[in-house]
Amino acid sequence: MPEDPCPCGSGRTVEECCGPLLTTERLAETAEELMRSRYTAHVYGNAEHLWRTWDARTRPAEVHPGATRWTGLQIMEVVAGGQEDDTGIVDYVATHEGGVHAERAEFTRRGGRWFYTKEST
Ligand SMILES: [Zn+2]
Repeated sequence: MPEDPCPCGSGRTVEECCGPLLTTERLAETAEELMRSRYTAHVYGNAEHLWRTWDARTRPAEVHPGATRWTGLQIMEVVAGGQEDDTGIVDYVATHEGGVHAERAEFTRRGGRWFYTKEST
């Protein structure tokens, strides 16, 4: 629901945070914003948003969010990924009922849009 706290843990409501990104009302301005919206898409099972925001060079043919019940997101570190950047890294820890998923994720901006590229190696 729009007035609910956003699942990404920003402290804002869904409407003021990831909601408009999931409905394509607006684009993510930073890599962190995209990362948060992708986490929220996982929570909501929004495969379309996950696929759309995944770099065409690295994304799978189809995206299946799965049945994992996500319980929280913590952004640990952000490197670049700002409005003046074309690349960025977001280090995050996402918790779910079965454990944690930690990743140092790489993002690329092309044509004014941020995309998730791959896990940083
Ligand atoms: Zn959010």
